[in-house]
Amino acid sequence: MKILVLNSGSSSLKFQLFEIKEKEHVLIKGIVDGIKLDDSFIKYEINNNIKKIKKKIKNHKIALKDVLDIILANRIISSLSEIKAIGHRAVHGGEEFKKTVLINDKVMKKIEELSELAPLHNPANLTGMRVCKELLPNVKQVAVFDTEFHSNMPEKAFVYGIPYKYYKKYGIRRYGFHGTSHKYVSKKAAEILKKDYKKLRIITCHLGNGSSIAAVQNGKSIDTSMGFTPLEGVVMGTRCGDIDPAIIFFLMKKEKLSVKEVDNLLNKKSGLLGISGISPDVRVLWDKEKKGNKRANLTLNVLAYRITKYIGSYISVLNGLDAIVFTAGIGENAYYLRERILRNFEYIGLKVDKTRNKNNELIISSDNSKIKVLVIPTNEELQIARETFELVK
Ligand code: ADP
Repeated sequence: MKILVLNSGSSSLKFQLFEIKEKEHVLIKGIVDGIKLDDSFIKYEINNNIKKIKKKIKNHKIALKDVLDIILANRIISSLSEIKAIGHRAVHGGEEFKKTVLINDKVMKKIEELSELAPLHNPANLTGMRVCKELLPNVKQVAVFDTEFHSNMPEKAFVYGIPYKYYKKYGIRRYGFHGTSHKYVSKKAAEILKKDYKKLRIITCHLGNGSSIAAVQNGKSIDTSMGFTPLEGVVMGTRCGDIDPAIIFFLMKKEKLSVKEVDNLLNKKSGLLGISGISPDVRVLWDKEKKGNKRANLTLNVLAYRITKYIGSYISVLNGLDAIVFTAGIGENAYYLRERILRNFEYIGLKVDKTRNKNNELIISSDNSKIKVLVIPTNEELQIARETFELVK
């Protein structure tokens, strides 16, 4: 079965066409970027051959049309009717969507209502769904939510210490994000370790531009660091992560900031960029640190320390631990950070193999380590394709 996976952002459309038989194959993948902007382009990859076309792309409908034309022109399929389903990334499913769903008008309306909770993401995801409905009206469309994997965490983990009525009135609670990634890598870890997924305690660290950590018990996320929005949790590229909320009122008063300005400050100017004053990118900071830059050193130490604290608390929440998984841009590459984090867990019998860690190997713990540590490249598109397949097959 051929399944098209789409991740529609405000100015981009990422796509992958999968062929799902016993195994999954990627037939083509790519991105249309800069939609509505001046320097838009389409980049795609077929059998490791990469092609980039610069052209003005006015909107998402034209973007999807171009993608379909490229698929046909490269004879990846002979007719669009071969595409049996489209799996969409949908960011916020609120309390409404605890499972992957078939998209219809009612579902789209609900996703639109949830835009209030994810104003940057849900409207963009919806655009992708609407365009597909227009261009491929007979193809089944499926929404796979970022919040789904966390949607069964216990109430004690998602209720905030504010009046309960605001949870009921506005849905203010922890939702968690990156669910597709946490699910994919935790499942994969069980496969690699040849253990029963339903009997494992795993901590997954998705560390990219946005970062979140999840406690996965017996195949279910029972807690995660991102909350009502993706601003909570560990320090991120430009997002502050956990702070004392009183800092907000203090800054608004002292710096005479509006709500919008403080929102911008905490989302776009904080985190690694804010602390370092140099860059949100861990690669740049590491380079500076090696050259003796003290602020870069402090920034990376803050990051490692915050991640360490989350892992420590989740070991307690899980009542023990079998494995830790690192994934996404930082998690898959920054061995120097993993080393700084993992040395704090020798007390529970975790031993890192330095060479394996430096080489970003799949398993970086020593053979005699009680806790296994893995580095697994995430693959959210594949997870979306699998969930879509399961629903429509
Ligand atoms: P996103 O969260 O947008 O999907 P990624 O998971 O690709 O992004 O993560 C991007 C971040 O990962 C970059 O900002 C950078 O800090 C970090 N990163 C990427 N490659 C490396 C690397 N080789 N070494 C260290 N950090 C890296």
